[in-house]
Amino acid sequence: MATNRKENVHENKYRRKKRQIFCEACQYDDSFEEATGFCVTCSEYLCQTCCRDHKRNKVTRIHSLLKNDDIPSDITPPDFMC
Ligand SMILES: [Zn+2]
Ligand SMILES: [Zn+2]
Repeated sequence: MATNRKENVHENKYRRKKRQIFCEACQYDDSFEEATGFCVTCSEYLCQTCCRDHKRNKVTRIHSLLKNDDIPSDITPPDFMC
């Protein structure tokens, strides 16, 4: 009996106890897209679509984006207390 749940093939690559990361921008829109990028400037995870939008937007196109393997698995939030 085959599993009726469609397995994501790409998951195997990220097996090492990495939790799934979702695009933060899309979550504001109530959709859960797997993050494929990370904006260093915004410290925000972005999906493929949002990465593209990030590069298109005049304000955000200069931001440093990390892709796929380069995205941090977990960002330790900087201390904003001062
Ligand atoms: Zn997105
Ligand atoms: Zn950004």
